[in-house]
Amino acid sequence: MDYILSIDQGTTSTRAIIFDHDGNPVTSGQLEHDQIFPKAGWVEHDATQIWNNTREVIGQALSKANITRHSIAAVGITNQRETTIIWDRATGEPVYNAIVWQDTRTQAIIDRIADGDTNRFKKKTGLPLATYFSASKIVWMLDNVDGVRERAEAGELAFGTPDTWVLWNLTGGPDGGVHATDITNASRTLLMDLETRTWSEEILAELKIPATLMPEIRSSSEVYGTVSSSSLLREVPVAGILGDQQAATFGQAAFDAGDSKNTYGTGNFLLTNTGTEIVHSTNGLITTLAYQLGDEAPRYAIEGSIAVTGSLVQWLRDNLGIISRSEEVETLAASVDDNGGVYFVPAFSGLFAPHWRPDARGAILGLTRFANKGHIARAALEATAFQTSDVVDAANADADVAMTELRVDGGMVANSALMQFQADILNLPVIRPVVAETTALGAAYAAGLAVNYWSGIDELRTNWQEGERWEPSMPAEERERLLRNWKKAISKTLDWVD
Ligand code: ADP
Repeated sequence: MDYILSIDQGTTSTRAIIFDHDGNPVTSGQLEHDQIFPKAGWVEHDATQIWNNTREVIGQALSKANITRHSIAAVGITNQRETTIIWDRATGEPVYNAIVWQDTRTQAIIDRIADGDTNRFKKKTGLPLATYFSASKIVWMLDNVDGVRERAEAGELAFGTPDTWVLWNLTGGPDGGVHATDITNASRTLLMDLETRTWSEEILAELKIPATLMPEIRSSSEVYGTVSSSSLLREVPVAGILGDQQAATFGQAAFDAGDSKNTYGTGNFLLTNTGTEIVHSTNGLITTLAYQLGDEAPRYAIEGSIAVTGSLVQWLRDNLGIISRSEEVETLAASVDDNGGVYFVPAFSGLFAPHWRPDARGAILGLTRFANKGHIARAALEATAFQTSDVVDAANADADVAMTELRVDGGMVANSALMQFQADILNLPVIRPVVAETTALGAAYAAGLAVNYWSGIDELRTNWQEGERWEPSMPAEERERLLRNWKKAISKTLDWVD
């Protein structure tokens, strides 16, 4: 067996990437899916379109390199986390569009559950009560989609995040599909107990979520089932599942306590591995599972989740129309010498870590008659680096030892000027590995370990190689001035929604 095939079901697109034994991508397929915005604050995906795209990108990846299922040792799955799908077990029909992690329609449900204390479930689940996680999205579907509560109570429906949806469909769908998730995805629902790694009966009961909806929680690396006969990959074992950010952490070989990575995609996610210890942040980070390999002890992480980074570039493209492709933001931002005093706080879904302020809304501050679209593009990119600086500060405050460098990956790290600015703002070296597809690679690793394609994590460590490095070079006064203004800008966006 020569390869591992990894499915990366992301927020903007679905990819299939085939990796060889050195962890190098050999071939890939990719398709974007529709971003559906029915109302302000609502974000949906069509789960059926996502599954059709998954099938198609698998075909693209295989055919491009003339590879057949006979050379694929295992399939790994990684996915946008928290996004919520409920479907009919008998027909495979979703009862409603997927409600995406960025969606904020459930704020009223969250306020009701929180009853003044958003940290009610934090000790048990590691998470603050927020619209971000799956629980309130499930409650919304049960309460608002006709017949869903009755059908759920009758055991006719299944809930899953996209990993579960893809796994169930790959392994046969209505015809014996495996209804399971892994601990990393389960830890994002607000429904899993971090210590026992089982669904919390107490929280399910309080939220009136029927337990029959819930998938089985498994490790991140084991054979869950084999691909069904209707697929190009028939009989190949599906052997790895990791939520996208945990997969990137794994793909960056951040296996040990203290190792960190930061991914720049639709949003940004900083994860620091805390080993077998459950660390509760006192600085606005959340506690989550990092990975579990088969029967081994699970590993935990603290995470700084930022809702809007790359999606702000998409917003410049789709809503303002000042660029026509994401990459063009680089040229536009480079058309001005500096931000011209303009700061952009993209609090489109409120602010996530470390603030957790659902009442915040986006703002562009510091405008003068001088400001132009170049300054706005520049401020949009700088916002990514400033927000990252805020979560790195929080991670450093929680940890015993401060970070000495930052390993990065994701679509935005193609932007070298942004990475240099990031190094300058953090005053730390920023390092991109040779294989920047760390999310897909991490899921491939989890799958390959389960079928002995790789011998263990020590072998994987040797696959990680430094690609590019950005060293900080900004004078301290300049850095401090920029961060001072950023903090001022953040403070202006709070308390906007009443
Ligand atoms: P995801 O996995 O969350 O779907 P990716 O890791 O594929 O996202 O990253 C895509 C994001 O990166 C998009 O939001 C896009 O706007 C942004 N992006 C792509 N190229 C650039 C660039 N050169 N500069 C800044 N942002 C970029």
